[in-house]
Amino acid sequence: GQCTAVCPVGALVETPHWHEVLETLDGRRRVSAVQVAPATRIAISEEFGMAPGTVSTGRLINALRRLGFDHVFDTNFAADLTAMEEGSELLARLQARQRLPLFTSCCPGWVNWVELNRPALLPHLSTTKSPQQMHGAVTKRGAFARGLGPAFAQGAAEPYVVSVMPCTAKKDEAQRPGVCGDVDHVLTTRELARMIRARGIAFGALPPDGQFDHPLGESTGAGQLFGASGGVMEAMVRAALHLTGQDSALPLEWQQFRGVDAGVKSAEVPGLGRVAVCNGIAAAQRLLETPQWRQDFVAIEVMACVGGCLGGGGEPKSMDPLILHKRMQAVYQVDRQSARRRPHENEAVQELYATQLGHPNSGRAHALLHTSYAARNSARLLLMRFLDCVDRRDG
Ligand code: SF4
Repeated sequence: GQCTAVCPVGALVETPHWHEVLETLDGRRRVSAVQVAPATRIAISEEFGMAPGTVSTGRLINALRRLGFDHVFDTNFAADLTAMEEGSELLARLQARQRLPLFTSCCPGWVNWVELNRPALLPHLSTTKSPQQMHGAVTKRGAFARGLGPAFAQGAAEPYVVSVMPCTAKKDEAQRPGVCGDVDHVLTTRELARMIRARGIAFGALPPDGQFDHPLGESTGAGQLFGASGGVMEAMVRAALHLTGQDSALPLEWQQFRGVDAGVKSAEVPGLGRVAVCNGIAAAQRLLETPQWRQDFVAIEVMACVGGCLGGGGEPKSMDPLILHKRMQAVYQVDRQSARRRPHENEAVQELYATQLGHPNSGRAHALLHTSYAARNSARLLLMRFLDCVDRRDG
């Protein structure tokens, strides 16, 4: 019953990890924490017979607690943090007039593609870690881990960190040099659904009111936007406009970045410049073939999957021709219904800066929340595919 689903980016085959995760949780030798991606809380509903576009955040949290996780956190917390770091990184590059346009880097399908095919673009990639890796770093090396007490301080009981992602390429991202070890196991949305079924948990009958744990479960509507194509740009623009003192003068919602149909979406953002959103890797390739892209844009979002992460290779399969649209509407619904919608309004993010990091893009923020990239040939990816095959044969 092992899964062999293929990532739409064509980079990786899914290696299932849910048996290992259940064994580790059952062993209860380490304090465990899980983080959930924005797209997962929507698409998991489809696995349990609910209408596409149903938001199941509370039930999902309760299911994760039943599975034995000690702390249930939200990737959206780190998405807010990513928007703050990436927004200030963009402002710094605009000021220095360097490495423009800035490309977003939270999609490992896109980062892998650049490293393999267009290494000359590497300086343009944002050095800001993805929300998954940021959350892992903060969970393992921040105040939360230190709060676990003397056992942790002596290195005896490092927390066990799992993420649930809509994405098969996120498994590879967690193994990258420089971030490896911050997330111990990555599960896809589909794998989590299998775990829930394997434990006989009636998902639809769970109370819908589960709440994330604090502080690493706090988020704003901006963080949720990361689940949709255009959402990283919209959240980053919200952050950058705050940092430049314009946030009340300009609209909160940027319809120009939204939707699943257009390949390249763009808008002029006052005070920043023209920005673009590439909806899928093919759209990015087309944009890079135009002669003017370096001059035309100050920032470009690329998500490898059409629709963004809500169309990821780890999400449930669907025959519904409107599936991406329905999931996307649910992303915007969560944002609209959030009490806070700008990344800087996240009180846990504010506290992290006040107590540990200083300010966005500070030296301490770079040490914890930024990374680097390097050209690589396809040998490493081929090796991973080979290991994956061995793994599946053994399984
Ligand atoms: Fe993964 Fe999202 Fe990128 Fe698709 S768009 S490869 S789901 S990070």
